[in-house]
Amino acid sequence: MIRVIVCGAYGKMGREVLKAIHNDAQLSIVGAVDVKSDFVDIGDLIGAGKTGIIVGDDLQTVINETKPQVMVDFTRPEVVMSNLRIALKNGVCPVVGTTGLSEADLTEIRESCLKTKVNALIAPNFSIGAILMMKLSQDAAKFFPHVEIIELHHDQKLDAPSGTALYTAELITKSRGVMKQGHPDEVEKIAGARGGDFSGIRMHSVRLPGYVAHQEVIFGGLGQTLTIRHDSISRESFMPGVVLACKHVLTANGLVYGLEEILK
Ligand code: NAP
Repeated sequence: MIRVIVCGAYGKMGREVLKAIHNDAQLSIVGAVDVKSDFVDIGDLIGAGKTGIIVGDDLQTVINETKPQVMVDFTRPEVVMSNLRIALKNGVCPVVGTTGLSEADLTEIRESCLKTKVNALIAPNFSIGAILMMKLSQDAAKFFPHVEIIELHHDQKLDAPSGTALYTAELITKSRGVMKQGHPDEVEKIAGARGGDFSGIRMHSVRLPGYVAHQEVIFGGLGQTLTIRHDSISRESFMPGVVLACKHVLTANGLVYGLEEILK
């Protein structure tokens, strides 16, 4: 059994991860962390009866007490780096879904993985359908270089655009390069009306109650458009990817960035 702890246990994703790991035959939840000092039994969070595993409020203490092999992190953009540093320092392999990490953060983690010889897996999106959406978009951009991205999420999301949208734009840029789109003299009558600009790709973020995580990649060509859309209609959609990552990370080689790297 692979010993796993979950950071962000009271969160929307954290609870789903606890359930998925609890139900997997090869993974075992040995601890959980959240900043709130409520000290709840994880069984109460996932409707599994008492387990005796109590959510702690300090990552280092939980690691000392539970000796995990893997730490899953679905917390907040401003705390994930601190959790990652603690995990790597303690020889615990991080599996990270928290979005909002910068290029500089990724460089630091990559170097830290090499130095500590501890592996890590970071995925802006753990949904296998979303990975396919990104791969198909990268391919389509070879033939349809004019593209805009609309991502739609629940209104509690902290970062915009989403990590998935940014990563899709990176992959599309690899296919078609940097390119100015639209009319060269276009004027925004309201600032931001044309969305953010990533290498010429316009990116639009919708935040409304009711959504989970959705994205449309719209390609425009002569007399035609092509839309590739993915919808995560519940957070369960991310769980097969998270479970796979927990099993894979122990034997990975340094930092793995993107679930697609282990789906090949
Ligand atoms: P959420 O419901 O706000 O959950 C985050 C939880 O982490 C909260 O309970 C929060 O407590 C807690 N937390 C804050 N600081 C912490 C710390 N230092 N240690 C441990 N726990 C801490 O958010 P969510 O919807 O679950 O999303 C979490 C992250 O996952 C976001 O970055 C989101 O974008 C990302 N996400 C990624 C994927 C993917 O496939 N990669 C999919 C969905 C979501 P407080 O509320 O008290 O701060």
